[in-house]
Amino acid sequence: MDNTYPSQLLERAVAEFSKLPGIGRKTALRLVLDVLRRSEDEVDSFTSAVSRVRKEVKYCRVCHNISDTDVCPICSDSHRDATTICVVENIRDVMAVENTQQYRGLYHVLGGIISPMDGIGPNDIEIDSLVERVAQGGVKEVILALSSTMEGDTTNFYISRKLAPYDVAVSVIARGISVGDELEYTDEVTLGRAILNRTTMTTKQ
Ligand code: ZN
Repeated sequence: MDNTYPSQLLERAVAEFSKLPGIGRKTALRLVLDVLRRSEDEVDSFTSAVSRVRKEVKYCRVCHNISDTDVCPICSDSHRDATTICVVENIRDVMAVENTQQYRGLYHVLGGIISPMDGIGPNDIEIDSLVERVAQGGVKEVILALSSTMEGDTTNFYISRKLAPYDVAVSVIARGISVGDELEYTDEVTLGRAILNRTTMTTKQ
């Protein structure tokens, strides 16, 4: 441990900040010194926001998107097209697709992707709850908007097989996105076009 700090409190705050992703000790020190320049009210507001997001945020019981309420604002919006479900890996992908403004259906957040290398199997992500949603009826199309990686392809294939017994079209977003690209880093125009130019998967038995 680096003992050059004149205060144990400073040292502790720097240690906490440097636990954040992408924050080294130098940046952590800069952030802590910035905290010291702020009013107590501002700092209270900051710590309360951090603490409340951890304690109070929920996951939508329908689509597993992040939400302040049991059912998220997207699922409870009657103006959205409830016959279409866009399947994404994580919450950041929901935000990416929303930013394209090309999609008015609902979502399903898997909370991961099938990755045998990382020990993540189909039961570790929200696939069963997706199948249940489709089984309840009313869904006409499921759009798979996963990264075009090997794990994304594996997950697409697994989900399309699981949905094959149901009367629902399964499509994948167009591969304007180059292989290996993470969905969330794709620009809005490209991602929007990829959703519009989706292709139907044909795995029906
Ligand atoms: Zn929802």
